[in-house]
Amino acid sequence: MSTQDVANAFGVSKNTVHVWRRRYTDFPNPVAIVAPYVFIYDSDQVRAWHTDHSKDFKQFGRPKGGRTSHIVKVHRLNSDAGVRYQAACSTCDWRGDERASEGVARRDASKHRREAVTA
Ligand SMILES: [Zn+2]
Repeated sequence: MSTQDVANAFGVSKNTVHVWRRRYTDFPNPVAIVAPYVFIYDSDQVRAWHTDHSKDFKQFGRPKGGRTSHIVKVHRLNSDAGVRYQAACSTCDWRGDERASEGVARRDASKHRREAVTA
């Protein structure tokens, strides 16, 4: 399958496939190069690789207009000062301030989701 076929198979852009090749050292090597920069992949290898990494792709989110939303969750912390709530991003390691109110922590989370969209 060509790079375009890989993109079609998983509902992503060709550019995303290039990103996968760069980001993941275990991305299957092309089985043939039919022209400069035109790679052909083994369909079974690519599908097996994609299954192995399906958790990562959930974390990066679905590309929407070329942008990826960060996954931010509000955690409940039990400290000496009582219960605190803190928003934390699993996409970029960002953490919000510890808040006494869960509502305020949720607002921190939404703010980060809005602002920290990576191209
Ligand atoms: Zn983030």
